[in-house]
Amino acid sequence: MSKPYNGYTWQQRHAHSQDRHRLEASGDTSILAYLHSGKPCELCGDPKPAASSWHAEDYSLSFTWEPPGTFIVCKTCHGRLHKRFNQPWDWRLYLLHLRAGGYGHEFTQRNSLPQRRTWMDTLAKGEAVVLPTIRKRDLTGQEWWQGLTLEPESLIAAWARPRPFRSRPDTEAYRAALQAVAPSERERALLQFHACQPAAAPPCGSLPRGPSAPTAPEPPILNMGGWPTDWENMWPGFLMRETMARPSGCPSSPKAGSRRIVNLNGS
Ligand SMILES: [Zn+2]
Repeated sequence: MSKPYNGYTWQQRHAHSQDRHRLEASGDTSILAYLHSGKPCELCGDPKPAASSWHAEDYSLSFTWEPPGTFIVCKTCHGRLHKRFNQPWDWRLYLLHLRAGGYGHEFTQRNSLPQRRTWMDTLAKGEAVVLPTIRKRDLTGQEWWQGLTLEPESLIAAWARPRPFRSRPDTEAYRAALQAVAPSERERALLQFHACQPAAAPPCGSLPRGPSAPTAPEPPILNMGGWPTDWENMWPGFLMRETMARPSGCPSSPKAGSRRIVNLNGS
């Protein structure tokens, strides 16, 4: 678990492993009921894998220790799932093995390396490979593992996350918070100014720091795109430009129409 996955850093992933160890050490494992259920591997269906582990597709908060965020997987399926970016044809062949009803550990037991290489070459040519049925499986083709991306950029890209890393509060929560804060006229004007220029106002760049890792391919500020709508819902008339006034001390806005990446370090 020392690598990024689905746009989450290894630190973000590791934090949940630590949570699990903490829960198990405390004896408070009710939240881990699914992981302790003894269910088969979610990929290959092996009812009694030699060794099992868990795999998460979604490390956003709030984290869930059950599908569709976390899945019981055997060690073989888990290893191949993470290696799929480096060995895409091997992964495609492995998927055929799973669809044919094979258990994870049977993949190399039943199919020699030369045979697998021949099949992978066939797949790479765009030709079909049909594996003999090992055992019947009721699959819809829509299982979460059947359509996993092979795009390496997904390992680090924020767009690969199933959800924002931190969920955005809803409009009611913002409204309540604003009422509690009771901003002054100057503060209101400052907020108003930035809300109207979500693609350019530097201070806003620090707000989406959580949802967007520094390695995200998109300017983090793009995540702000939906905010003005929220503000308008909370504060009718908020975005009326004729009422805007930039308070003193507010950074100058860039040229109209320009979009630049905000430096999160502020330098
Ligand atoms: Zn498996």
